[in-house]
Amino acid sequence: MTPMRKPFVAGNWKMNKTIEEARSLVFSMSTKLREISAVEKVLCPPATALLAVSAMLEGTDIGLGAQNMHWEEKGAFTGELSPVMVKELCSYVILGHSERRQYFGETDETVNRRVRAAQKFDLTPIVCVGETLAEYESYRTSEVVARQIKFGLADFSPALAPGIVVAYEPVWAIGTGKASTAENANGVVSTVIRPALSALFGEQTARAIRVLYGGSVTAGNAAEYFTQPEIDGALVGGASLKVDEFVAITQSAGRP
Ligand code: PEP
Repeated sequence: MTPMRKPFVAGNWKMNKTIEEARSLVFSMSTKLREISAVEKVLCPPATALLAVSAMLEGTDIGLGAQNMHWEEKGAFTGELSPVMVKELCSYVILGHSERRQYFGETDETVNRRVRAAQKFDLTPIVCVGETLAEYESYRTSEVVARQIKFGLADFSPALAPGIVVAYEPVWAIGTGKASTAENANGVVSTVIRPALSALFGEQTARAIRVLYGGSVTAGNAAEYFTQPEIDGALVGGASLKVDEFVAITQSAGRP
């Protein structure tokens, strides 16, 4: 990772933790996380716990993120959270997670609407891209990931683009325990993601955008990713629910 890109680690809690459980998890990890000032840290609990967690994170350097949001500001969209609502509590939002694409029909086009809504409301989007196992096995990684970047980030203002965070998450590595090798992930970032970002925003901006790896990151393998030149941090699912694991991953992102 280059010095111009501050390391970034986000925990995606997915559909886990009640309000009380969320409080207890934050209570156990926030002091240790605050000591790791070299890393930008973000917790993404489920929507029901956002208010409680935001109160606990107030005055700390730990950010809060939603796991998704709709693009409309309000209206008849049962079950959705609007950017106005997310903005009340959060500074970050995960968009285009593969579970949203796979189970809830999100497409590059609807991800793009969400991404543009995030820009409008000054939320930092953590935009997830990555190929499925079938796409990986048929050597379509480059085509798929380039398309997801091109259409997912279309019409984002180049001036604001350095604030985007991209997470490269091969779908076959998420929650499977079969992490990508660090070299493979670094290769996808350097040969596919940064060139696609460069085509949209220019080379200098592309070099300023943080790109994370996600997919079965643990305390045991995290350092391998963070020593790669093109990987600036991690989006962590399962291991973000375990205090010692998440703290150790974050510490290792902060090591030069
Ligand atoms: C994720 O949910 O974005 C993720 C990477 O999950 P896991 O770390 O559990 O593979």
